[in-house]
Amino acid sequence: MKDVKDLQKKLTFEIEHIANKKPDIMEKSQEFCEEYKNFLSVCKTEREAVSTIIEMAKANGYTEYCSEKKYKAGDKVYLNNRNRALILSTIGTLTVDNGTRIAASHIDSPRLDLKPNPLYEKNEISYFKTHYYGGVKRYQWGVTPLAIHGIVYKEDGSFVEINVGEDENDPVFCISDLLPHLAKDQRERKMADVLKGEEMNVIVGSLPYEGENVKEAVKLATLVYLNEKYGMTEKDFLRAEIEVVPSGRARDIGFDRSLVGGYGQDDRVCAYTSLVAELETKNPTKTTITIFADKEEIGSTGATGLQADYMKNFICNLAMMQNVNMFTALQNSTCLSADVGAAYDPTFGDAYEPNNSCYVNKGAILTKYTGSAGKGGTNDCGAEFMAEIIGLLDSKNVCWQTGELGKVDQGGGGTVARFIAECDITTVDLGVPIISMHSPFELASKLDIYSTYEAFSAFLNR
Ligand code: MN
Ligand code: MN
Repeated sequence: MKDVKDLQKKLTFEIEHIANKKPDIMEKSQEFCEEYKNFLSVCKTEREAVSTIIEMAKANGYTEYCSEKKYKAGDKVYLNNRNRALILSTIGTLTVDNGTRIAASHIDSPRLDLKPNPLYEKNEISYFKTHYYGGVKRYQWGVTPLAIHGIVYKEDGSFVEINVGEDENDPVFCISDLLPHLAKDQRERKMADVLKGEEMNVIVGSLPYEGENVKEAVKLATLVYLNEKYGMTEKDFLRAEIEVVPSGRARDIGFDRSLVGGYGQDDRVCAYTSLVAELETKNPTKTTITIFADKEEIGSTGATGLQADYMKNFICNLAMMQNVNMFTALQNSTCLSADVGAAYDPTFGDAYEPNNSCYVNKGAILTKYTGSAGKGGTNDCGAEFMAEIIGLLDSKNVCWQTGELGKVDQGGGGTVARFIAECDITTVDLGVPIISMHSPFELASKLDIYSTYEAFSAFLNR
């Protein structure tokens, strides 16, 4: 009987709860996530993430990258791409034609953007019109406190930053929903249309400009407030970038405080874990390249998304500085595409295939492929690199698991992996399992967050 059990243990593969497998990280993960919750609470937009990460990088000896300058092993630099994306790098002892180590997360999250001309009044209530960004279930964004974050440029070339709805003394904003008593027609709508795109209107005021009998006096009162506070006029909305996001700080979830709940964990959880690993990297053999990309949620488009050339240009510039072949540098580089995965949610178990799902508290997810339908749009990582990364994680005793994004033909999605792979760079996805992904309040396990940090650390310092 004993022989059979031994045989079974030897031949089968099962992933344990981290609390049993590696109890020594229970306390460390709690501590690690205190700083993580702060990061998540102050970085609600890609711009806020860029400025926060630059501040942290400077405090850790990073200087602004200059393509004309010569850098030596151990130097730490940052490249700010248009205030919406960022690269941190620690120069290795080997030249970059030996390959670099890339960790690529994204710092944009699903949200509601203000339209270019957002402000209007209807029945003496003033509103901002929004255009949703990324994959959101719009109904989740109604009747919940919202904050407004952004930047406005003015005619004289100066700019002002807006951040309202986070401080406990701030007002917040809200999208209304219809009361159930009158929802007979709304109840017949399909889920995607419970709140329609043109119904995502944010209430910003309801008092008229005092004492004056003018047309649209409530809209005017809102403009007067904005002018007094920010020095802006209605025209300035056209040179602004303003995002509506859920209000409030990240919190512990559960009596045991085992989970973090908060907005934007896709993908700032991978941004933070790879950031800490990058900041701690000292004198690596291979140059590290830690990317914080923008526009992943809408297809990695534009100059700050990873379909653009800025990462490739950065590596090629390093190769030119070292007088080595830039194509060889790309070919020999390897990348962890640092993005979250869909944790199995027992309440909605039907959407997943249990044998190939990832679970909370079982570690970082190593995802061979993403995509949808017949793997459409994926970077399907080869067996060789899977073997290399599994070997690395096992050798460093990092808790990891595998996971597919839901069951076949249930939907799907992609990451930046394919765009990096298309630069001739071997790439695989690795990140944190998330429950309620893309919602205003996403959940992640602290043990998984800490394990993912350990994974990035092992990779960058390899
Ligand atoms: Mn993501
Ligand atoms: Mn996403």
